[in-house]
Amino acid sequence: MSYPIELIRHSLAHVMAAAVQKLHPDVKFAGGPAIENGFYYDFDTDYRFSEEDFEKIEKEMRELIKSNGRFEQKIVDLDEAKKIFANQPYKMEWLNEYDAAGEKLSIYTFRDFTDLCRGPHVESSKDLPRDGFKIRSVAGAYWKGDSKNKMLQRIYVDAFESKEALDAFLKMQEEAAKRDHRKIGPALGLFFFDERSPGVPYYMPGGWIVYRELYNFWSEYHEKHGYFEFRSPLMNKKELYETSGHWDHYKDSMFVFKEDDNNVFALAPMSCPNSIVAYQHEPRSYHDLPWRMADADMLYRYENSGALNGLFRTYEFNQDDAHIFISEDMIEDEYNRIIDIIQYYYKLFDMKYFIKLSTRPDDFMGDIETWNKAETILKKILVNRFGNNGFGIKEKDGAFYGPKLDIQMVDSLGREWQTGTIQLDFQLPRNFNCVYIDKDGNKKTPILIHRTVYGSLGRFMGLMLEHLAGKLPVWLSPVHAVIIPISDRCKVYADSIAEKLQDVEIKTATAGLRIKKDYSSESMQKKIRNAQLKQIPYMIIVGDKELESQTISVRRRDGKQEFNVQLDDFIQNLKSKIKNRDLDI
Ligand SMILES: [Zn+2]
Ligand SMILES: [Zn+2]
Repeated sequence: MSYPIELIRHSLAHVMAAAVQKLHPDVKFAGGPAIENGFYYDFDTDYRFSEEDFEKIEKEMRELIKSNGRFEQKIVDLDEAKKIFANQPYKMEWLNEYDAAGEKLSIYTFRDFTDLCRGPHVESSKDLPRDGFKIRSVAGAYWKGDSKNKMLQRIYVDAFESKEALDAFLKMQEEAAKRDHRKIGPALGLFFFDERSPGVPYYMPGGWIVYRELYNFWSEYHEKHGYFEFRSPLMNKKELYETSGHWDHYKDSMFVFKEDDNNVFALAPMSCPNSIVAYQHEPRSYHDLPWRMADADMLYRYENSGALNGLFRTYEFNQDDAHIFISEDMIEDEYNRIIDIIQYYYKLFDMKYFIKLSTRPDDFMGDIETWNKAETILKKILVNRFGNNGFGIKEKDGAFYGPKLDIQMVDSLGREWQTGTIQLDFQLPRNFNCVYIDKDGNKKTPILIHRTVYGSLGRFMGLMLEHLAGKLPVWLSPVHAVIIPISDRCKVYADSIAEKLQDVEIKTATAGLRIKKDYSSESMQKKIRNAQLKQIPYMIIVGDKELESQTISVRRRDGKQEFNVQLDDFIQNLKSKIKNRDLDI
């Protein structure tokens, strides 16, 4: 019988607990849920688990699995449960809580190990893979996640239905570690972090070029598609966020500071409130709609320091935002236009994606009817575009002011990331009393769409570095080409080539083509190696032969080399790669 992977993972957690009990009979058990890619179990014992124990535990687990032990469930009353778990303080705490909540007390026994657990599990350990799991690590974890409680030892295990699936996962993990943007970003000279400004990156010249190219492209593309860009304050008085509802719903994630008791300020955590203020600055009529305001302003959001993660999670970031004011009959058309834009972007970066609809959270604003109406419209759009099964649903994950579509990107390693989002909002325009004059001269409340494509420019850069393993397309590369003369005799020729390249008329975020010369005293091999390490797309190599024939040799970062290339042909090719934003070099 085949079981869902979560069930296999959770059953393996019991097997690991049984194995640990055999090896360390005095151990106290906390709990062991299935997680993404595996499971963990929390133990309390004076013994310190270390990597040296992993193999022993795995071996014991295999023996237990081989024995085809059954997972037997029993429902017990409180007295019986207290007897069974008399020596297990953590289980005692759970069972008293479950009992107080009126829950049945369900216990599962596998071999000599009995656990308090709702189940379900596999029927027998013969349904479990013998070699589809591997202990990853051991780490401290507080009982119930509360730092006031005792620190337990959590053993993490990667677990899959088969050895093949586990091996594929481990290989992917290895590749992901190599591509980690926190390593390759600094190695490529793009950005770095310093402990004196945690969560706020320093973009070095190369990284700032990537950033500006991403931004310029976004800005131009949206201007062509009916958006206009504006700039608004990075800090506002708290009253603005009281009106928007952020003060009540989002304050914990905001950087707040005081001038005096009457003047409390906050750094903008999102640009919606300021976009609304700008919308209201002048009277609007139905002629003005859709009113598409784009901005990539700096935003500040507080995170627990443990949640900070390279460019993926920072305190400070530029979100490529847009706020679109529409009338109700425009929802479908505007959503389709936005999805068109998203499709264009994802194709450009060769990213797969799917869309998830996030529905009403518990902490919502407004009335349920309006929420239902909005969710119905969004579902209809998704069904029309992607079919009944072409999208996912995330229950209760909407923003507090409305449901949203989240764009889930799938990178080249098959990992999923949430990037863009399209949020429908019936609430904020009401909170701010936004209006437009309709065809009949009546005042109406517009609907607001909040949307991003990249998500955050920095985070997107990090994602691209991992997705493309640092091999950015030519248009995003901080250096388009490096010129390497073979000998001193060829330097004058090399200079003339550099000059011609620098004179090429082309629009980029910098002053035309980005050309470097490597006239250092390093060996030829070393120079090529250096350029490859920096992922520079092209190396222009000139020696006596090239000088004589007035051509160039072009070596690409993937190692392919072409000889006798006319400089003009190279320039034409480079221009078209940049202009078309080709992914391949
Ligand atoms: Zn269980
Ligand atoms: Zn917004």
